[in-house]
Amino acid sequence: MTVHLRWSGDTESLEGNVEAVVATLRRARSVFALTGAGVSVESGVPDFRSAVGLWARYDPFEYATLSNFLASPAKSWEMFRELAAAIEGITPNPAHRALAELESCGRLAAIVTQNIDGLHQAAGSRRVLEIHGEGTRLHCLHCGHFEPFQSAHRRPGPVPACPRCRAALKPNVVLFEEPVRHLEAVSALVRRSDVVLVAGTSARVAPASQIPSEVVARGGSILEFNLEITDLTREGLGSQGALVEGPVGRTLPWIVDRFARGAQP
Ligand code: ZN
Repeated sequence: MTVHLRWSGDTESLEGNVEAVVATLRRARSVFALTGAGVSVESGVPDFRSAVGLWARYDPFEYATLSNFLASPAKSWEMFRELAAAIEGITPNPAHRALAELESCGRLAAIVTQNIDGLHQAAGSRRVLEIHGEGTRLHCLHCGHFEPFQSAHRRPGPVPACPRCRAALKPNVVLFEEPVRHLEAVSALVRRSDVVLVAGTSARVAPASQIPSEVVARGGSILEFNLEITDLTREGLGSQGALVEGPVGRTLPWIVDRFARGAQP
């Protein structure tokens, strides 16, 4: 049976169902989280795929492919500077902190995130697999040098160059034509986990799209925290699954607080 909870501010009426979600977390052998843009929206990071997002203004196949970057780094850097501006000065919100707390309670093995904003680590999460890379560092594809992505790099001007070999630096994000990262570690998590906590993503984009269904196919369940029903919900969340509908900055702390309270002696 799938439990369906909707955040309304009046949480008293949902008591029984809250317990069912907490019980799934408590009984699970191993839990990991899969997160996406919805987790960072409340920190002010726009969803790049939304109508006003980056991809609506910069055709990714013109600006965000590896071959375009190699052929014309200056053009790709127009988009990189906007991407950097979108995540400059942002701070974690209660959804990031709730997941960090779940890890520190020993209940979350890892976070697999599609986000590149570094906010899970900023909130204190330690095991974070950034499958689309990290927007907080620059990388030299030529010699392997890394450095922080700083305000100075964001100002219009020449393409930032590697201090060691002078090649064009690239944000350490996964561009189109580049492989998604940490897939082996993600498969190991899927194999040993019986619950995946999906937050702020409808998981429509591969490979994230295969992760929750794989957990269910192996007999596990999905605890879904999203603003509304998604294809994940419609395709089935598993025998102990639940949808917690509402803003993840409210719903995640709600459930994690309850879990943490019950976990104390
Ligand atoms: Zn270099």
